[in-house]
Amino acid sequence: LPPAAEVAKRFPLTPNAAPAAADAHGEVMGKLSFGVAFTDHMGRARWTPERGWHDRRTEAFGPLTISPAAAVLHYGQEVFEGLKAYRHDDGSVWTFRPGFNAARFNASARRLALPELPEEDFVGSLAALVAADERWVPGSEGSSLYLRPFMVATEAFLGVRAAHEIDYLVIASPVGPYFPHGFTPVSIWVSQDFHRVGPGGTGAAKTGGNYAASLLPQQEAYAKGFEQVCFLDAATGTQLEELGGMNVVVVDADGAVRTPALTGTILEGGTRGSILQLLRDAGREVREETITLTALLEQIRSGAVRELFACGTAAVITPIGRLAGADFDVTVADGAPGETTRELYGTLTEIQYGRRPDPHEWMYRL
Ligand code: PMP
Repeated sequence: LPPAAEVAKRFPLTPNAAPAAADAHGEVMGKLSFGVAFTDHMGRARWTPERGWHDRRTEAFGPLTISPAAAVLHYGQEVFEGLKAYRHDDGSVWTFRPGFNAARFNASARRLALPELPEEDFVGSLAALVAADERWVPGSEGSSLYLRPFMVATEAFLGVRAAHEIDYLVIASPVGPYFPHGFTPVSIWVSQDFHRVGPGGTGAAKTGGNYAASLLPQQEAYAKGFEQVCFLDAATGTQLEELGGMNVVVVDADGAVRTPALTGTILEGGTRGSILQLLRDAGREVREETITLTALLEQIRSGAVRELFACGTAAVITPIGRLAGADFDVTVADGAPGETTRELYGTLTEIQYGRRPDPHEWMYRL
């Protein structure tokens, strides 16, 4: 990738892009939570079949004016991404594998019949936004600036077909540590009656509809006292897929690490791929394969499975302490975070915060 200062020029700051008069910066940065506060600016660009991508700019964060007939509001033609900007000890700001997210964004766009965005535009929009809003990148332990690029069909047309007017935007939200009170395992409800995606569907794409389908099962899991939902494959209802917003990983007592294979119905997580790479670097056995619920429950009960965790950009790694469904309820090992889970969390976050060498050049200076 070219340097950030170069690609950022693609998204020039508009002259009127001043921060809001009532500046909440001090209050927001003093008490960070997830996804509630947004920075002063947003990046955007527009696409039509005639002109391709045009009107790239970085402007003041604010409400969008779109037609009530905009296709995205009716048919959900949209895709999004999620990555973070980290402040290192020397004050510099970096992001993690933006090229991966750019490629996944385009893979999602293809599935949703949306235009692809060149990688230099994706990364350029992030670089320009972070340059304009640098003061919003927190420096406190475990905090970061969450970046949310997204593409929506804004054409005013109620016919069901791929829209001809598309908007790309990127917004940013300062976020605090996911585990402010330490690394605590979560309990998972396995959804046996609802699926979020099916074979040939949009499971491998990061698109709103998948998340919409996960909300009711998630609500039911919360009501039962569980924190997250794990979905099974829709074709057989027997195989583990992923959580609503995280991939799932199993650590065996013999040290092998397993995660569901990329079958087309799960999202390929950047955290998942990075963890598998770190494990392979360390000479650990790693397998991407089918994991059936029945076998997993048996292995947890017998002690053959020692750790279970979920992984994704927001939480990095979340230990799973308990797995339950309509007719089972098991505790993983002693319910406390395992050694591999802790080690991976440490290694990955130290790379992200610039406190450990970055052998794969995953970090990109913004
Ligand atoms: N699965 C789903 C459904 C997700 O939304 C996410 C979050 N993007 C992940 C897995 C993890 O992906 P990543 O590690 O790239 O954040």
